[in-house]
Amino acid sequence: MIDRFRLQRVQYIPKSLEPGILYVSEEFDVAAHLCACGCGTKVTTPLGPTEWKFSEKDGVPSLWPSIGNWQLPCRSHYSIIESQTRWGEQWSEAQVLAGRKAEEARREAYYVEKDRLNRRPFARFWRWVRGLFRL
Ligand SMILES: [Zn+2]
Repeated sequence: MIDRFRLQRVQYIPKSLEPGILYVSEEFDVAAHLCACGCGTKVTTPLGPTEWKFSEKDGVPSLWPSIGNWQLPCRSHYSIIESQTRWGEQWSEAQVLAGRKAEEARREAYYVEKDRLNRRPFARFWRWVRGLFRL
């Protein structure tokens, strides 16, 4: 088991990873590490408002919400908080499905809201421009 992760900032995620290192490319909004259980599987996590969040304080990385490697044989579940592996509980298949649905709903709500916020002022602006030039 890997209890601690060190941060390594990279532009591209290297092909072969070392255990205990959290590779982060902020340029491509992605992080990668080898599964904390020690099984050696490469775990890639996209970063973004609806994906995983990464933060760093004095070189100490955090990555959350928790990573559930349900598709891997090890089914490990953890987050990385201030470079420490925080183990989560094991989820049943039903919990995994419910979690996935909740995540999709969150993502959808985020984009609907973003779209609404993005579109509204522009629509108003164009109406105003059209009004000015009587188009
Ligand atoms: Zn694993």
